[in-house]
Amino acid sequence: MSGPLRVGIDVGGTSVEAVALAADGSIAARSRVRTARGEEGVVASILDAVGGLGVDAATIGIGVPGRIDAGRVYDAVNLGVRELHLAAEIAGATGVPVAIDNDVRAAALGAASRWEMPNLAYLNLGTGVAAGVVIDGRVVDGSAGVAGEIGHLAIDPGGPVCACGQRGCIEAFAGGGAITERAGEPLERVSLRADAGDEVARRVVADLARGAAAAVRVLALAVDPERVLVGGGIARRGERLRDEIAGELARAADGSAFLASLRLAERIEIVSPDEAVGAVGAALVGDRLVA
Ligand SMILES: [Zn+2]
Repeated sequence: MSGPLRVGIDVGGTSVEAVALAADGSIAARSRVRTARGEEGVVASILDAVGGLGVDAATIGIGVPGRIDAGRVYDAVNLGVRELHLAAEIAGATGVPVAIDNDVRAAALGAASRWEMPNLAYLNLGTGVAAGVVIDGRVVDGSAGVAGEIGHLAIDPGGPVCACGQRGCIEAFAGGGAITERAGEPLERVSLRADAGDEVARRVVADLARGAAAAVRVLALAVDPERVLVGGGIARRGERLRDEIAGELARAADGSAFLASLRLAERIEIVSPDEAVGAVGAALVGDRLVA
C-alpha cells in the first residue's frame, strides 16, 4: 500500500465499520467488527477495526452517535457510553491524529461525496431518526450542534409517546427502536406479519412510511435538497421502503398543486448499507485535521 491513508470509522450499536480511503477517495480497504459496549468496549472495538484494515493511517476520523463536543462523546445511549474522551483515547493508542463527529452528520458528508452533490439531505432511519443536511458542500451543525434532529418533530398529537417525552414524533413512527417497542419485534418480522394480513403489523408498517414521508417533507421544505438519501438499518427494506414513502408523499400532495410541484418522490434514494457512507464520511471528517 503506497503512503499513509485516511481512515474512517463508523461506530454503530451493533458493528464498527472501518474504511481506508485512497487519495482519489475510493475505498482501498474495509473492515468490520462487532461493537463492544461501554467506554472501554467502544475504544477496543475501534482499535480492532483500525487494525483489521492493515494500512498505515495518516488520519483517523470517527462518526459516533451521541452529542459531540471537543473530541468527547456524551450520552451515546445505544453504545452504553455516558462520557468518553474518544479522540484522545484513539490518538493516544495509535499515535495518529483523530477527529470525531456525530455519526449522522458524518454519513451526510459521505453521501455528498459519493453522490457528488453539494446540496442534499441524508435521512437516517436507524434505531432513532435524524438527518444530516449538506448545503454548498458543508454539513450544517447549527448553533448548538442539534441541526437535523427532525426525529423529534411531533406530527400526530394522538400518536405513541416518544422516548423524548413528546407524543407522535417522527421517530416514534419511523425509528427502529420505537417500531420494535410498539410491535414487540423488529421491522423485518413485523413486515412478514403485515404481509400475512395482521392488522396491527400493517398499521406499524404504514406508520413507518408516514413518519419517513413527514421527514422528507420537512427536509425538502426547509432546505430544498437535490436528493433526500435514506439510509440506516431500516433502509435495508430497500426499494420497497422507497415505494412506500413515495406513496405517502403522493397522498399528501393529492389536492396540493404546490406540494405536487416539488416532485418530492423523485428526490428520494435509498442508500444501501454496502455504500459505507458513514465510514467514508468519517474519513472526510478526518480531513479537518490537515485542512
Ligand atoms: Zn421525540
